[in-house]
Amino acid sequence: MTNIEQALGSVRARIAASESRYGRPPGSVRLLAVSKTKPPSDVAEAYRLGQRDFGENHLQDAKAKLDALADLDITWHFIGPVQSNKTRAIAAGFAWVHSVDRLKIALRLNDQRPADLPPLEVCIQVNISGEASKSGVDPDHLAGLAQEIRSLPRVRLRGLMAIPSPSGDFEAQRAPFRRLRTLLDGLNGDGFRLDTLSMGMTDDLEAAIAEGATMVRVGTAVFGARS
Ligand SMILES: *Cc1c(COP(=O)(O)O)cnc(C)c1O
Repeated sequence: MTNIEQALGSVRARIAASESRYGRPPGSVRLLAVSKTKPPSDVAEAYRLGQRDFGENHLQDAKAKLDALADLDITWHFIGPVQSNKTRAIAAGFAWVHSVDRLKIALRLNDQRPADLPPLEVCIQVNISGEASKSGVDPDHLAGLAQEIRSLPRVRLRGLMAIPSPSGDFEAQRAPFRRLRTLLDGLNGDGFRLDTLSMGMTDDLEAAIAEGATMVRVGTAVFGARS
């Protein structure tokens, strides 16, 4: 068994155990394998083991990988900060963008999504308190941004994403995930039909699943530490 085979197996087991423990239907949490900084051969290995969703956070780092693996039936997710001058390549190369946090970026992705591809699936990144990065829309501005994005034909708003700052305490990990779920529920109460909560990484995926994550973004636990 390779390292990736073993690691992927144990991440899948962690997800299944949390689904069961927190009353989530089996298979309701999708694993997004975060392959940033890792070589195409690692992605190909995970693919061989049945993994189909992969996440990248730097266009520059991702480009060669997407090209090298173009023959594989991979769903690529962009999860990093989106710069305006990168939207064209992101709109063409990725199926999902989890990190939309301002209208300007959504408009560019909408305009630049190639006509021969289905609409780009997007999540709004929210800056819930204690965010590790500066990215993400302020919760007070979420509803307005969601309304604007909803009207765009070439992007499809699927849900919300957040990256809370790390915490070793399980209950403390759960709190920001609960806030994100509450924000999603609020939008759905206002007539949205959002089905995606992109939250949880290597060190807090159990807490995220307990709070309703539908997609966990896991790098280190699948591919090992990044240098
Ligand atoms: C790197 C990264 C991850 C994965 O982090 P790990 O702790 O290695 O699992 C998840 N989400 C985003 C946005 C990332 O940049």
